[in-house]
Amino acid sequence: MMHRLTADQYVEGILSHDRLTLSRAITLVESRLASDKVLAQRVLEQLLPHTGQSIRVGITGVPGVGKSTFIETLGKYLTSRGKRLAVLAIDPTSQRTRGSILGDKTRMETLSVDPLAYIRPSPAGDSLGGVAHRTRETMLLCEAAGFEVILVETVGVGQSETLVHSMVDFFLLLMLAGAGDELQGMKRGIVELADVIAITKADGANRTAAEHARADYQNALHLFPPTPTGWIPQVLTCSASENKGITDLWHWVEQHQHSLQHNGHRNLIRQGQNLAWMHSYIRQQLEEQFYNQPDLEEKVADMENQVRQGSILPIQAAEKLLKFKAT
Ligand code: GDP
Repeated sequence: MMHRLTADQYVEGILSHDRLTLSRAITLVESRLASDKVLAQRVLEQLLPHTGQSIRVGITGVPGVGKSTFIETLGKYLTSRGKRLAVLAIDPTSQRTRGSILGDKTRMETLSVDPLAYIRPSPAGDSLGGVAHRTRETMLLCEAAGFEVILVETVGVGQSETLVHSMVDFFLLLMLAGAGDELQGMKRGIVELADVIAITKADGANRTAAEHARADYQNALHLFPPTPTGWIPQVLTCSASENKGITDLWHWVEQHQHSLQHNGHRNLIRQGQNLAWMHSYIRQQLEEQFYNQPDLEEKVADMENQVRQGSILPIQAAEKLLKFKAT
């Protein structure tokens, strides 16, 4: 077992902005050992008054859209203004396979050595829900460690965007000009979540196409119902490699933050997110407790067989398994 600090040592280290302690606390939060979970909760409880002050931004887009290049350019812009920035990732592919779309170490080379930036790859875990839970706790640790902007990055596959959306204040969707219609259709649900859509790689021969895409999306957004927060989603173009449009983008993030703080929606959003977090944790724990019961596995296999053969209805099998819990 890895050497652990005391709860007070984690807390002091984090509050004095010590990165090494932060990294060790994140490892603690990611651990599945029962003793680590208890310790992690003690640390988080003490840090709670020092959390919640950052701007939480989610960034998504399909692989190749330019997420890491964009984060590198945006990150350098922010740190050049003296902002402390943490970049976290949720990579659904790393949960299922060893390969990872997001986590490799060669990404964001400049930002990773910037003293004001902290980059933490996606935690390895079983379910996406579990990973989301750990990422939320990591975000709190980063806030207590003084990071003023938290970027949570994910790829446009599976449900990871919805998860990221459920833990941030501002959701940024990166899109490529000229992507096929079926892609746009597939993305519709995500487009509706976006506070800003940025058309990437608006440079060189791609510039005109990017401008057209911008106009198309702006028109498409008019057809969506207004958001409950009163925010009107924006569409813009940017080029991370030529460092264009990045300042504008950040301006919108700040505008959004001001407007939601002013009309009270930022708090409402965060309250709602915390409630949803609580309930999703309950569901996760119940499921885990249920499936981890000794001797249940055999019974599950037996019921699965009967369901496959059609000799029992799925619900009846489920009821039997749930009762097995009670005996
Ligand atoms: P990710 O998979 O979404 O993280 O995308 P990357 O940041 O790795 O970028 C994918 C490819 O697009 C790389 O070859 C980048 O050099 C290129 N790229 C990223 N941003 C830009 C940009 O602003 N302009 C141009 N022309 N290429 C870019």
